[in-house]
Amino acid sequence: MEKYTFISQSPDDTYKFGEQLAQQLMAGDVITLEGDLGAGKTSFTKGIGKGLGVQRVINSPTFTIIKEYKGSIPLYHMDVYRLEDSEEDLGFDEYFEGEGVTVVEWASRIEEMLPEERLDIYIYHNGNDKRTFELRPKGERFISLCKELL
Ligand code: ADP
Ligand code: MG
Repeated sequence: MEKYTFISQSPDDTYKFGEQLAQQLMAGDVITLEGDLGAGKTSFTKGIGKGLGVQRVINSPTFTIIKEYKGSIPLYHMDVYRLEDSEEDLGFDEYFEGEGVTVVEWASRIEEMLPEERLDIYIYHNGNDKRTFELRPKGERFISLCKELL
């Protein structure tokens, strides 16, 4: 399995890294985020939103599960942590195959519904403001994207 690492030293590093990643993204891309509460999944997504040209403030979609934002490419931001039944399908495919980029927090909860080609990102808390991002690309496109990015 291919793995790429990025170390973030601050919330700003994380934001900028998200913004940088977004420059390489296109409609139909799916990014999954795993990491404990406070790891920085939503902070990273805010950076992705900036890079996609989203103007509105991005907030955690914990209670709504899915939020859509207009941008030069739309952003579909999901947090499936509170999905009652992980077999429940809220029409995820329509998003994954849609006109926008999808970012899924706690994606392992809907593992079976995720597309095979995607970029899985694990964020580890290293104490204080330090975070390790481990990128695990699935499919050729995301492998070359990671090589370019890191
Ligand atoms: P999650 O969505 O994973 O629960 P959030 O992005 O909501 O996490 O929260 C991350 C918290 O950690 C924020 O309060 C943020 O300011 C703080 N933080 C400290 N250092 C970092 C870092 N390097 N990257 C991201 N967030 C950080
Ligand atoms: Mg979050």
